[in-house]
Amino acid sequence: MNDFLLSASQSIGFISVSNPFDGVEVGAVANIPPEDAQMIIQTAKEGARVCRSLSRYERARVLETCALLVERDKDTFTDLIVAEAGKTVKQAKKEVSRCVNTLKLSADEARRNGGEVIPFDAYAGSENRQGWFTREPLGIIVAITPYNDPLNLVAHKLGPAIAGGNAVILKPSDLTPLSAIKLVDYLMAAGMPSNVVSVATGGAALGEALVSFRDVRMISFTGGFATGEKIAKSAGLKKFAMDLGGNAPVIVLGDCDIEDAVESCLSGAFWAAGQNCIGTQRILIQSSIYEEFKKRFVAGTKALKVGNPALLDTDVGPMITVQSAARTKEVVDAAIDQGAKLLCGNIQEGALYTPTVLEDVNFECSLWRQEVFSPVVVLQQIETLDDALSLANSPEYSLHAGIFTNDLHAALKAADKLEAGGVMINDSSDYRLDAMPFGGFKYGSLGREGVRFAYEEMTQPKVVCIRKIN
Ligand code: NAD
Repeated sequence: MNDFLLSASQSIGFISVSNPFDGVEVGAVANIPPEDAQMIIQTAKEGARVCRSLSRYERARVLETCALLVERDKDTFTDLIVAEAGKTVKQAKKEVSRCVNTLKLSADEARRNGGEVIPFDAYAGSENRQGWFTREPLGIIVAITPYNDPLNLVAHKLGPAIAGGNAVILKPSDLTPLSAIKLVDYLMAAGMPSNVVSVATGGAALGEALVSFRDVRMISFTGGFATGEKIAKSAGLKKFAMDLGGNAPVIVLGDCDIEDAVESCLSGAFWAAGQNCIGTQRILIQSSIYEEFKKRFVAGTKALKVGNPALLDTDVGPMITVQSAARTKEVVDAAIDQGAKLLCGNIQEGALYTPTVLEDVNFECSLWRQEVFSPVVVLQQIETLDDALSLANSPEYSLHAGIFTNDLHAALKAADKLEAGGVMINDSSDYRLDAMPFGGFKYGSLGREGVRFAYEEMTQPKVVCIRKIN
């Protein structure tokens, strides 16, 4: 365990972490008070000096060794994700294997992305100069992560930050901190000096205290809009990476392979019980196939097995808390009050919420306009691609979008006109490769994750220029 966490946990209270499915406690972590933020910053300052002095070879070796250790113990990590986040075994396994990949990509980046030669002599007046730029660490990065991908989203911040030579203060979600702590333990077992990453477990007040320090050079945040706005207000002059929410549209045109589209959209909508920032929330279906798509999609939804995520045949586990499931029911009930027609689902039992499909949702209600982050999907009939594009783009923020069609021109038009950080053709919105640039368009989104892109955000160029005297 990280030194700071160990000493803090001896002196203060604990946050209990419970299994979302049955409420049984699966662990407890130190509830570090905001007054201790100064001490954490002090540790990180030393960590920044240490990490900066590690060679690229050493940073890469730590990340690669950690990847191998996580791969070796993949079942332990899988069980932990199932227990603290309520993901099904299949979903948790996928997250662990993606984490291994993220760490390996980070090791590659440490070796590869050291800077470039600058062609000074390509410009008049600079013919007698030559030089280069290097990629230097920023210093201290505060990384704040959400509950829904408790391992791989942490790796997406720690991997590139360490590759770039930074110290990190990691504040994981207080709902799912155990996978994050285990990953940091594994980094240390792989040879990372203990002060390079400080795990600061605690609530919002601790996060707010940490982001406000002048010594912090960057905040890498993944979470909700309201939290992102609060952080931006508390932080002052610092670099931000903000990965916030989505409300992903998928367009289904009449010429597509309908069976394939239904299958992809079912996975896109209900993976991780819909608690997925690129999960499909709105499906815009051309009228020629609307009834057929609806029939198949509702039948597929009803066939999903909802329940204990630890059982291998479960498709949809619980939501993160009973309160989240109750809030989802309220949002859906409100949409029904405003005219939406319920096609299936909307039953809450504790943290379980049955996959829910609606149609005729009023465009003014929050289910259409805002991220629901739940196993809820809206079907909407459209006549033309132009209608679909305008509806798809209507929310004020967006991460990913998708389109199913066999018409190349329609696909390319959608790729051009959809206002999103990623457009998936013949796939649901829920596709991501850890090496690709990942982030949103429009309100709130700042910067990109995806290892190379996060590494570039987390380093700064330094120019060295030599004037040749003779
Ligand atoms: P959240 O915003 O409630 O919490 C995220 C983190 O911020 C937690 O660690 C929390 O303790 C911390 N926090 C809360 N208040 C804070 C404050 N005032 N100052 C500093 N830190 C504070 O988010 P959540 O409910 O854990 O996660 C769900 C959200 O995350 C959804 O909106 C989802 O779309 C988003 N998300 C986005 C991506 C992406 O890559 N774009 C990925 C996953 C999740």
